[in-house]
Amino acid sequence: MGRDLAKVLITEEELQGKIRELAARIDADYAGKDLLLVGVLKGAVMVMADIARALRLPVQMDWMAVSSYGAGTKSSGVVRVLKDLDTDIAGRHVLVVEDIIDSGLTLSWLLQNLKSRDPASVEVCALLRKPEAVKVPIDVRYVGFDIPNEFVIGYGLDYAERYRNLPFIGTLAPHVYGGEGD
Ligand code: 5GP
Ligand code: MG
Ligand code: MG
Repeated sequence: MGRDLAKVLITEEELQGKIRELAARIDADYAGKDLLLVGVLKGAVMVMADIARALRLPVQMDWMAVSSYGAGTKSSGVVRVLKDLDTDIAGRHVLVVEDIIDSGLTLSWLLQNLKSRDPASVEVCALLRKPEAVKVPIDVRYVGFDIPNEFVIGYGLDYAERYRNLPFIGTLAPHVYGGEGD
């Protein structure tokens, strides 16, 4: 791995500190409520596992897997559901847990989809947010870190299905992906 990594952007300690901070806010905001965490596979696996364990609230967890259609390397906003929820979310408080918001197209599609199922509420917790996402009219209640517009890996995030198990967030050396960004 060593020489594939350009730099560490967010250390393991910084990640875990932020997770505790987010969990404390979620505990306070949902006190007395029945909360369902919805993780978006596969990138959100690490943040979901750590947030869930940092919460004091009893929660349920479910998962969705989606993939963006589209010709280019960017999200098209047209999304296919690869794995749907096992849970009926009607009347439930839902918190979507995401790894990263880039264009925001995937998330805005997902939120529309979930809202059509009549939940009591839907909010979003995203560990990372890139600058593009700020232009999208999505109200993200919990954001871990605003990061520069670079392709990042680790802590659930992959490049060609590798690097997900790194305990920190880093950027790849250009020789790994042959040049410019994502
Ligand atoms: P969006 O629809 O917001 O453009 O796409 C979000 C998805 O693209 C994320 O859930 C993630 O799978 C992928 N993605 C966006 N930026 C990055 C990045 O910097 N690194 C990695 N590994 N995946 C990213
Ligand atoms: Mg994701
Ligand atoms: Mg990926």
